[in-house]
Amino acid sequence: MNSSASTPGQNFAGLGLSPSMQANLQQLGYTQMTAIQAASLPLALRGQDLIAQASTGSGKTAAFGLALLSRLNPRWFAVQSLVLCPTRELADQVAVEIRRLARAHDNIKVVTVYGGVPSRGQIASLENGAHIVVGTPGRVMDLMERQALDLAAVNTLVLDEADRMLDMGFMADMETVIRQCPKERQTLLFSATYPEGIGQLAQRFMRDPQRVTVKAQHDTHKIEQRWYEVTEDQRLDTVSQLLLHFRPQSSIAFCNTKQQCRDLVAVLQAQGFSALALFGELEQRERDEVLVQFANGSCSVLVATDVAARGLDISSLAAVINVEVTPDPEIHVHRIGRTGRGDATGLALSLASLDEMGLVGRIEQMQGRESEWQPLAELKAQSEEPLRPAMATIQIIGGRKEKIRAGDVMGAMCADFGYAREQIGKISVNDYSTYVAVERGIAEQAVARMNQGRIKGKSVKARIL
Ligand code: ADP
Ligand code: MG
Repeated sequence: MNSSASTPGQNFAGLGLSPSMQANLQQLGYTQMTAIQAASLPLALRGQDLIAQASTGSGKTAAFGLALLSRLNPRWFAVQSLVLCPTRELADQVAVEIRRLARAHDNIKVVTVYGGVPSRGQIASLENGAHIVVGTPGRVMDLMERQALDLAAVNTLVLDEADRMLDMGFMADMETVIRQCPKERQTLLFSATYPEGIGQLAQRFMRDPQRVTVKAQHDTHKIEQRWYEVTEDQRLDTVSQLLLHFRPQSSIAFCNTKQQCRDLVAVLQAQGFSALALFGELEQRERDEVLVQFANGSCSVLVATDVAARGLDISSLAAVINVEVTPDPEIHVHRIGRTGRGDATGLALSLASLDEMGLVGRIEQMQGRESEWQPLAELKAQSEEPLRPAMATIQIIGGRKEKIRAGDVMGAMCADFGYAREQIGKISVNDYSTYVAVERGIAEQAVARMNQGRIKGKSVKARIL
């Protein structure tokens, strides 16, 4: 989804950005501001504190990135901006985007800091000089307490995905960190929703914040929405019937609670689906593994809560399944907006019990159209074949720290183990593990060959995830 699509575009020219920055934006293909950028940049560039609300994919990073870069002095080696994010993936994504924006200036150092990996490398990077730090609240606090990170020069503080940080229990850590920032600063808070905790944060730590809200504006007309009435007893089984009937290559099944995620994954796995759960409280490593498998086509159903799925950059979903109706109609629109992107048509399948009909009514009002109800009897398995993903993931113990690169793995798979390039999918290298997607049919043999053979001259341990 892209909020700019339905907003009259405005270019970046009127903002007083430096000519080199404007040229860089051109090069990045950012010709028009997105809606949230148009609404927030003029205020943010003036130094105003902001609470900005907009959905995923609406270009929030550039909205705060341009503001913090505008006041950054590259010749001063001190941390001048701090961006707090809920997870490591988001921190990495934000850092990538800020680095792209910062290409216009010379030598701006962006350092990411997050838990789940040793602090040593992060401390070394900070010692080398950082202008901008992007990190999770826990690790930022940790590094601050170890005197590896000094926040005394921070002039812009960004709380990105603030609602999700609260949801993950980061309130206390955030407060500790915020108190270490100078009082004279700009605070920019970004959030997709506006739970109570946000107001509290704003009241305590922001100065006269302006609120900027951009409503979700998906083009929901390209999405085929089908509703099914179920009893509570039927709900989870109906999800598997939907999967067998529509056979989507990849789908997200949204649940309202963690418990429902767990229950549904258990049901689906018992029936032989390759389904994985994504909810808060997963360890970073578990989360990484789930996301790698979903993104490389070796898991076909991701069962997720809304907050856990937020910010995931997953394109081209064949279907979205609403296992329960969400109480917030905007969230419904976010959920279904993950299918039918670009030129593809989307499929949104929603289950509702009688108790949820009031919520369905609110969604109808917001969308300005009535729900189309389908009989459960239409759901018939289209084939005897179970729904199997095309790929499987092989995990190799050893990653960046062992200097393994994707090219080495691809080289060994093709030159030494005798596979064709087409049989190998995405190769993702993390610090300590490498994940290789291969055609499902060759996975077992490929693991055996890896365990007997060598990669980059070294023997390795591999297993199918
Ligand atoms: P959010 O944080 O709101 O979820 P991001 O900041 O990650 O969204 O941006 C989503 C995508 O849109 C990124 O790939 C980014 O490069 C791109 N983008 C941001 N601003 C613009 C723009 N003005 N024009 C075109 N693409 C943009
Ligand atoms: Mg973002």
